[in-house]
Amino acid sequence: MASIGFIGLGNMGGPMAANLVKAGHEVSGIDLSEAARERFAEAGGSIAASVPELVAGADVVVTMLPAGRHVEDVYCSPDGVLAHARPESLLIDSSTIDVATARRVAEAAAAAGMMMVDAPVSGGVGGAEAGTLTFMVGGPDTAFAAAKPFLDIMGKSIVHAGGAGNGQAAKICNNMILGISMIGVSEAFVLAEKLGLDKQKLFEVSSTASGQCWSLTTYCPVPGPVPTSPANRDYQAGFTAAMMLKDLKLSQDAAMANSAATPLGAEAAALYSLFCNSGAEGTDFSGIINFLRGKEG
Ligand code: NAD
Repeated sequence: MASIGFIGLGNMGGPMAANLVKAGHEVSGIDLSEAARERFAEAGGSIAASVPELVAGADVVVTMLPAGRHVEDVYCSPDGVLAHARPESLLIDSSTIDVATARRVAEAAAAAGMMMVDAPVSGGVGGAEAGTLTFMVGGPDTAFAAAKPFLDIMGKSIVHAGGAGNGQAAKICNNMILGISMIGVSEAFVLAEKLGLDKQKLFEVSSTASGQCWSLTTYCPVPGPVPTSPANRDYQAGFTAAMMLKDLKLSQDAAMANSAATPLGAEAAALYSLFCNSGAEGTDFSGIINFLRGKEG
């Protein structure tokens, strides 16, 4: 059994760390929030007083933090992971962050002689609790092979996407498709309503025709056709509009930095920004259909 240090015990990190405890590993955690620390202690984890104390004895360090600046600070500051972890430690960052920061931190880890992967997830809090997350992993083959047994405990699909930063690249490209497709499906239902086309009929046609996609068949933004979609519970999240906006902004920053043409990604980011500003940040991202209806002429 490994000794694991887990940094960031929030909505995602808490249940992920708890699954590592359940699998029999010795897991010590740290978080700025007292409530998060208490939840993890109740799940059987131990709490460390500082990052240096946490990582000094760890075989594996996992981080699940809000954004790139937190990740860079936790790894690269004088009191951070790289200054205090053992050289043979394996480092796994599962936060969703920008590709450039992920690559910078991976380079610093390599310079310190440590193996590191970026391993962002999809699957949400439900997937974190059930241990069924999808991991998109960037890093060298040896680091991927070392990380896989631990990712297998927290997830059910583990994809090696290439070198450092490619896990983050896969995540933001996938979520750009998702944001755009959810708006496309929502627009189609709004137009169908105007044309007097029953939503169930549109679903029957498009779910088996060329309009078929996950936003339609798994996460349908109108109530009825897919009983498990958030539309049936008043758009209670699921995946919040704020999270979708975060990921779309990451895709647009990456597109700008790398001169990629993503005009629909840019439009999706603008629409989700307006949707969030309308007070909908905490609702499910599929609720964008109601925002589009509000724009009907
Ligand atoms: P969260 O805000 O619930 O958890 C983040 C935790 O990190 C907080 O508890 C915070 O106190 C802690 N933290 C921040 N800075 C810290 C530091 N310096 N040291 C120790 N702890 C620190 O967020 P979350 O929903 O768990 O998301 C975490 C990451 O996972 C984000 O990058 C998010 O984009 C990604 N993600 C979230 C979801 C989701 O559905 N929630 C799905 C996929 C990916």
